[in-house]
Amino acid sequence: MNCLEERIVKDGIVREGNVLKVDSFLNHQMDIELFDEMGKEWKKRFAGKNINKILTIEASGIGIACIAAQHFGVPVVFAKKAKSINLEGEMYVAEVESFTHKCKNQVIVSKKFLNPEDHVLIIDDFLANGCALQGLIQIVQASGATVEGIGIAIEKGFQAGGRMIRNLGFHIESLAIVEAMDSETGTITFREQ
Ligand code: 5GP
Repeated sequence: MNCLEERIVKDGIVREGNVLKVDSFLNHQMDIELFDEMGKEWKKRFAGKNINKILTIEASGIGIACIAAQHFGVPVVFAKKAKSINLEGEMYVAEVESFTHKCKNQVIVSKKFLNPEDHVLIIDDFLANGCALQGLIQIVQASGATVEGIGIAIEKGFQAGGRMIRNLGFHIESLAIVEAMDSETGTITFREQ
């Protein structure tokens, strides 16, 4: 079991509706030493890839992306959630449905910060149904940049996002893949990696 899996078992809380709460070390309070280990692991798993930029989405992706970026020596761009947009000429825009908040957000990235020469590693905290990732992939592709890989902290392997996005040919490295979780007993099982 890796250190992220151990931490999920110790401090993660399984809520009804397939939600895993990891507020005490990832989504609210942030354990930077753990983030540093995660960054090191992504650097190892994406060794040899030509990555010059990390893209994530606000809010929870930002912390892990910034610590990971220190291992890659590259800047971080985060997609902003925007209510209404009339800046289409200046922004790449994608629509993302939030799994946890059950609402739709438009997410935007300024055209200044992504261009066809960029080789992008996308990083996010969770992969569930894959909507957030699809939005980020759409934005990278609209800019003409290349998605070199996708680093996820916690993938919920029983939801469809991971399979769907791997089937599109993207290289995803999830540091912990939850195979099953039970809100009554609190049990969490992981996929062997
Ligand atoms: P997706 O778009 O893949 O369905 O969901 C990804 C986004 O939803 C993540 O960026 C994360 O913020 C949130 N999310 C999805 N499932 C969970 C969960 O079980 N726990 C928490 N804390 N966030 C989740």
